[in-house]
Amino acid sequence: MDQSELRDWEARCIQEEPPACRAACPLHVDVRAFMEAVAAGKTAAARKVLERAMPLPGVLARICDHPCEAACVRRDLGGPLAVGDLERFCVKSTPAGPKPLVLPAKGRRAAVLGAGLCALTAAWDLVRKGYGVAVHFQEDAPGGWLRGLPEPLLPPDVLAAEVAMLARMGVAFAAGQELSQAFLASVRSDCDAVFVEYGAGATPDRACGLCPASRDAVDPVTLAMADPGLFFGGWPGPDGAFSPISCAADGRRAASGMDRGMSGASLTASREKEGAHPTRLVTRTTEVPPVPRMVPADTRAGFTAAEAVAEAARCLSCECLECVKICAYLERYQGYPKTYARRFYNNAAIVKGNHQANKMINSCSLCGLCTEVCPGSFSMADLCLTARRDMVERGKMPPSAFEFALLDMAESDSEACALAMPGPGAETCGHLFFPGCQLAGASPDKVGLVYDHLRDNLPGGVGIRLGCCGAPGRWAGREELFAASMARFRADWERLGRPRVVAACATCLKTLVEAAPDIPAVSLWRVLAGETGLPGNAPLAGAGSRALAVHDPCSSRHDPQSQAAVRDLLSRLGVT
Ligand code: SF4
Ligand code: SF4
Ligand code: SF4
Repeated sequence: MDQSELRDWEARCIQEEPPACRAACPLHVDVRAFMEAVAAGKTAAARKVLERAMPLPGVLARICDHPCEAACVRRDLGGPLAVGDLERFCVKSTPAGPKPLVLPAKGRRAAVLGAGLCALTAAWDLVRKGYGVAVHFQEDAPGGWLRGLPEPLLPPDVLAAEVAMLARMGVAFAAGQELSQAFLASVRSDCDAVFVEYGAGATPDRACGLCPASRDAVDPVTLAMADPGLFFGGWPGPDGAFSPISCAADGRRAASGMDRGMSGASLTASREKEGAHPTRLVTRTTEVPPVPRMVPADTRAGFTAAEAVAEAARCLSCECLECVKICAYLERYQGYPKTYARRFYNNAAIVKGNHQANKMINSCSLCGLCTEVCPGSFSMADLCLTARRDMVERGKMPPSAFEFALLDMAESDSEACALAMPGPGAETCGHLFFPGCQLAGASPDKVGLVYDHLRDNLPGGVGIRLGCCGAPGRWAGREELFAASMARFRADWERLGRPRVVAACATCLKTLVEAAPDIPAVSLWRVLAGETGLPGNAPLAGAGSRALAVHDPCSSRHDPQSQAAVRDLLSRLGVT
């Protein structure tokens, strides 16, 4: 497996895709981790989750208009998680964390015009990346429209504390600055990049100030116009109101563009996952009971600690893991197929392979159930087979790994056991009964009875072939053994006049159909049910009084006709 194949495998498993809430949050707050912490009563840990993603967390967590809630997977199961209210509860009930990490100075300077949420977010992100940042604004204190919010929603001391934190991080604030075109021109000549917030330099007849009136005037990815040194953001919505999270997202996007521009990187490359984006994560909810959203007893005060815990406990901790839930093998190795693909890839670099990884590669039963339940149809069986073939090619397959199956196959194909002949006295045959090595080995008497029955009831003569279909060679990654086995089968089939193969074993049938689609093959059970009937056609004595479980083999998963034939035969025998 090379790197690009690994990437292909990894892309098929969506377990590491973000939950819907996180993908819908323009700042990608890890809502799932936040909910887990709140539900566990660990409010300080929950605040750390917010502080990892949010600029000015004390402010933003109080006022965010929470687009994440509309995306919450719980929305039709009692209502979306109250993310906004819980974030507010969290920052109200815990002290702010330490000063965020600021990278060493890069020796470049950025100017921010305006001091609303968008501008302060841009300043927050830029100073953390090591840029010298000065915020220029016309008013006597920073905050812009934040200062007009009702005090219970955003107390002035909370805003002041975040501004003080920005200052501690190294941001310089210049109040009472007239923001004119001339001033803009002067900061542009002084600084390496400039951000202009909507409303900075506003006049009575131009509310947007130095910023374009509409977002449509700028590149939606970079928030720059033709000149990449100048960035804009913070427009109000169509109703004229400011969305806190959109303003913060604009500030972050602009800061990212400024950083790219100042460090000589592409302004546009690999930015698809910035801001809100779709997620491929699928979380099965069919068995999740609805639980109504918690409403605080005192809606003005918000959640109490107990109410917050109860509300956060409704979170489904969205993830996939559908395959791990149904497969003991996948569960045992404490990961999921994406991580297993990485382990297999890394294992290939170790001279003899790691014992644990080798065991894992060779332990999948190749049943294919994971593929059935996986939203991305990830085939662990194909991944394991690829890894096994790779181990064989590199001489790393432990000899003991498939010793039993390969010896069994060799024995079955040996001169002592293998057989391919037409019916007595004939050169060719119209049908070839192929019981497979297991049935022939375990119940040779029944093979004889069935063969006689087929010969008595099928037209055109019935031959028989004993031997292996070659599947163990494929399971062991020994493609040359599998190919040799199929070649023997084909030679026998040609010699016997290209008969229709009647296979008793679902795995033999599947192997033949997949590897030699030109050889007509059908399951014995369909022939018995639809063409020859059962020997004697009589119900079994006492069959109706016994419980019987039918286990369809994995290899018949996509063969509903054979499955139906087995049930049909049982009902004819009196099993209900
Ligand atoms: S409430 Fe706002 S900041 Fe928090 S996760 Fe939702 S969108 Fe993001
Ligand atoms: S249930 Fe929890 S993890 Fe899932 S989308 Fe909602 S908040 Fe996010
Ligand atoms: S079912 Fe398994 S392989 Fe498929 S996406 Fe989910 S975790 Fe990954």
